[in-house]
Amino acid sequence: MNQGFQAWLGASLDDLKTKNLYKTPRILESPAGGRVRMNGKEVVNLSSNNYLGLANHPKVREAAVAAVERWGVGAGAVRWIGGTTTVHDELEQRLAQFKNVEAVLVFTGGFTANSGCIPAVVTAEDVIISDELNHASIIDGVRLGAARYKKSDGFVYAHKDMDHLERILRETQGFQKRMIITDGVFSMDGDIAPLPAIVELAEKYDAFVMVDDAHASGVLGKNGAGSTSHFNLYGRVDIQLGTLSKALGVIGGYIAGSGLLKDWLINRGRPYLFSTAHPPMVAAALIAALDVMETDPEPMRRLWANTKWWKEALAAEGFDTMGSETPITPVFVGDEGKAQTFERALWDEGVYALSIVYPTVALGKARIRTMPSAAHTEEDLAFALEAFGRARERV
Ligand SMILES: *Cc1c(COP(=O)(O)O)cnc(C)c1O
Repeated sequence: MNQGFQAWLGASLDDLKTKNLYKTPRILESPAGGRVRMNGKEVVNLSSNNYLGLANHPKVREAAVAAVERWGVGAGAVRWIGGTTTVHDELEQRLAQFKNVEAVLVFTGGFTANSGCIPAVVTAEDVIISDELNHASIIDGVRLGAARYKKSDGFVYAHKDMDHLERILRETQGFQKRMIITDGVFSMDGDIAPLPAIVELAEKYDAFVMVDDAHASGVLGKNGAGSTSHFNLYGRVDIQLGTLSKALGVIGGYIAGSGLLKDWLINRGRPYLFSTAHPPMVAAALIAALDVMETDPEPMRRLWANTKWWKEALAAEGFDTMGSETPITPVFVGDEGKAQTFERALWDEGVYALSIVYPTVALGKARIRTMPSAAHTEEDLAFALEAFGRARERV
């Protein structure tokens, strides 16, 4: 081992620790659910994106097991080299119907879908215009591409600020293509992007739109089809990204759009070209998850009933949920140190919810991030609410 390199690792980790950025995952000892066993303790889990409870749904489990019997465990190769199975193909057709688009291409993760799609659809003659609160995987995808994108060059608009976006669109008319990119639901604040206004501006200025619906998939729109469905913008958003890892309960990401887009990404999306396909059991489990979403309204109804109850109950107790509109419910604390004490107090009370502090969010805007889901019972949430009350006394 190289001493200099190892010393650099040690010093860099120490630096993270002094800046309060050091992370160690807790150990989960039970399947995903509203209540889990974690680090030897039973807790109500408010930190999962398993919005619809599909990660441990009996029908989804059964489909995965049956697919293992039928196909074995691994895909063995990249799809265009090793061949793509009927089950991968069926999943994409089902997703295209679900999203009401011509075609869908699946990647192994939502993160991968961003890094596969974004650099493939822009050139050095283009510009990407982003919301300042876009997800890290969008930012990385944008950095991988040849287009101009930097905040310092004026290509990043203030969060959901449509006047700012219009100003940028007015000033960038010399570029060949212009792509506006936004989260559909913002992952830290739980607010919804003003997609109708974004699409109108894009149409007015001849730009195209990409929306990352990771937190809108399974949450917004018809049967959870996402923000384009929620706002009835069918046919007006060129690129939709969805995740299969959060509400759909398994793993993966996809790009939904035209047949031309899919064809282009099969030929130019680098993670598609150079990374092995999902195991067939993943595709089969996802088809079963879609079956549930399209035939059983109960998980989505419960998700939203729990969301409404949770937000109202917190507000009634005097907590500030920061205007969030979706299951992602930040609970405002403010001070960074206080938020971390709050997180520890919640853990002692039997609730797992993480503090989110600077630099993930602005200084002085520290919060506890909570996500009620269909997997929670009323008792789980009532228990969590009491824990929040007691934890507040201790910070
Ligand atoms: C979680 C998330 C992703 C990544 O999706 P994975 O399927 O977990 O890789 C991408 N974009 C946004 C906005 C996300 O919140």
